[in-house]
Amino acid sequence: MTTHVLSLQALSNLRNFGIIAHVDAGKTTLAERVLFVSRKLRHPAAAIGAGNTMDTTAIEKDRGISIQAAATSFVWRDRFVNLIDTPGHVDFTAEVERALSALDGAALLLCAVGGVQAQSVTLDRLAARAGVARLVFINKCDRPGADPARVVVELRERLGHYPVLLQIPMGLGDEHRGVIDLIGWRALTFDGADVVEGPVPPEHLEDATAAREALLDAASLFSDALTEALIDGRPAREDDIHDALRRGLRQGGLTPVLLGSAVRNIGVAPLLDAATRYLPDPSERVVDAMDPSGLAVRLVTDPAAPLVARIFKLQATRYGPLAWLRIYQGTLTAGGALTERVSGRRVRAGRLGRLHAGELTRIDGAGPGDIVALFGVDLPSGTTLTGGLDLRLDAGAPPEPVMEVAVTSADRRDDKLAATLAVFAREDASLTVRVDRESGELRLKGMGELHLEVVVERLRRDYDMEVRVSAPSVALRQRPTVGTPFNHLLNKQNGGLGMWARIIGTVSPCGETGESFVFEWAVRGGAIPDIYRAAVERGFREAFAEGAGTGVPVTGVKVRVIDGGIHVQDSSDRAFERAARQAARACLAVCAPVLLEPVMAVVVEAPAEHLGAALGGIARRRGQVKSTDVGALARVEASVPLAELFGYAGALRSATSGTGTFTMRFERYAPTDGAAQRDEVAC
Ligand code: GDP
Repeated sequence: MTTHVLSLQALSNLRNFGIIAHVDAGKTTLAERVLFVSRKLRHPAAAIGAGNTMDTTAIEKDRGISIQAAATSFVWRDRFVNLIDTPGHVDFTAEVERALSALDGAALLLCAVGGVQAQSVTLDRLAARAGVARLVFINKCDRPGADPARVVVELRERLGHYPVLLQIPMGLGDEHRGVIDLIGWRALTFDGADVVEGPVPPEHLEDATAAREALLDAASLFSDALTEALIDGRPAREDDIHDALRRGLRQGGLTPVLLGSAVRNIGVAPLLDAATRYLPDPSERVVDAMDPSGLAVRLVTDPAAPLVARIFKLQATRYGPLAWLRIYQGTLTAGGALTERVSGRRVRAGRLGRLHAGELTRIDGAGPGDIVALFGVDLPSGTTLTGGLDLRLDAGAPPEPVMEVAVTSADRRDDKLAATLAVFAREDASLTVRVDRESGELRLKGMGELHLEVVVERLRRDYDMEVRVSAPSVALRQRPTVGTPFNHLLNKQNGGLGMWARIIGTVSPCGETGESFVFEWAVRGGAIPDIYRAAVERGFREAFAEGAGTGVPVTGVKVRVIDGGIHVQDSSDRAFERAARQAARACLAVCAPVLLEPVMAVVVEAPAEHLGAALGGIARRRGQVKSTDVGALARVEASVPLAELFGYAGALRSATSGTGTFTMRFERYAPTDGAAQRDEVAC
């Protein structure tokens, strides 16, 4: 690592920018080209599909998908850019959301042939929800069948954008050789990282003139200067057009659209110009933190204000744990003290760095809006760190891990395996690992088949561990349907210090609150001193989370403790915790629990002629169709139990001659009684 002293970035010159795209749209290739044209990369990976520098671990290169959100920085003209890599696969939606929380703007990447796909819709919605401004890059204009005009229509109709083309292509498919810049009124071709300007070729004059008029019409809605120029018949000033586009984008009134081909390096430099010009800087992003009473406190991008930052990614690296941090307020300096809000723990910002091309560069500090890597801080992603303020940034609810496998070490290193998986689970909130008390098995839960496969492959590649994996199963839960009182006595005397605790109360369903566990302490008159309250709560909470002897976690349960008793000598935290665990087991059996299974919100898309096949597939899988939308492409939204979706990707492909795609995300837990219906359908 080289040492590099960093001066604070002027906010107006700082951009935190990401590329969001469905798998295979060309995000990795584009990121590679971005780094190339910003002249930090001397040689782009020449061959299609070759290695790249945005994906930092070997496994990602192999799979050709980016799983981890790493950030890399570069300078573009007078701007300092942090480019944040976001995963494209919907199994990693949680990672996308966390990466989005660190961004101010993004390029939504679409394929000129495939257009807006189900995954693009999901990703665009996530970005909108996170308040991330977007422009669009239509990639792969060099592919046969490229039709950017159709993609623009889809942007309007399917994503609800107001797309405005800033360029038109010079040739499509094999003929694609450059773009016409409608604002600068020139033809752009590309020679390596260099942009070659020329006059608009006569054969494109007519189309370009019409497209420029449409651009000026759309932009003029956001600029009086531009409107006046147009009315007076004066030529529009470039700066006025840029201002109008910037304003329109901020107000959600238009989406600038650029195009090109990442693989041929066409349109990459103009995309960077547009991104740095139109997308907001960190000071324009409104971020509220919460104080302990739940009041919102607006953060200010002032370097002199007390620090507020959040970890959006934790990575295990050969340098140890590396936490990626977005600074929202104040200045972070190497060696400075930080407070972690959840436990109030103090940590030290030992060393700070930035990443470029897999190389970490040491820095001395960073200001508001910036993104840095913090070495040696082993805190989960989503953690708020402050310079002493009692503020918390909402990390969002952790996603539900819905699919489960049992893993065993094939080379008898079970302890190492458990420890390594525990590290992964800290990096990734959507992954949990536990030892099943009954079977002693190590059980791993994640967001889907691919998510778990990636974890297992990472163990093999990066940690040299051979593991055996069971067939995946869905992560079931159970919920009590009736309440029961309990009066439980733990009295264990076998010489020495005994264990004695009595607890009296009720266990009941939570009702419709949707909460997984509610605890109420209503012990009067000190029958159980309050010092044991935490132990009782922990005992119940953990026992239910582990399944209270059944192995299936219990959710939607309320525990109310009203009375009890202590023994002067033999009562202790341990005794009360154990009594609570035993009471939980005993109660569960009489609470008539129902089994719950994860149900996914599924969106299927296929050409209209395959609509029947798509609907049939959903019905056979106990799915409930919520809406159907038939254009050239049919789109079906449905709720389908996850247990029915194993192998669905393949089944859909064959039912639709390879044209159908789908996305799914966790929707809710629901009683499994639908299984009976499935049997009927199968007959
Ligand atoms: P990601 O999954 O979005 O990261 O996509 P990749 O960057 O890995 O690209 C997926 C595939 O599309 C690879 O085979 C790329 O070489 C190819 N690809 C990317 N950009 C272009 C492009 O502009 N034109 C063409 N024809 N292929 C491209």
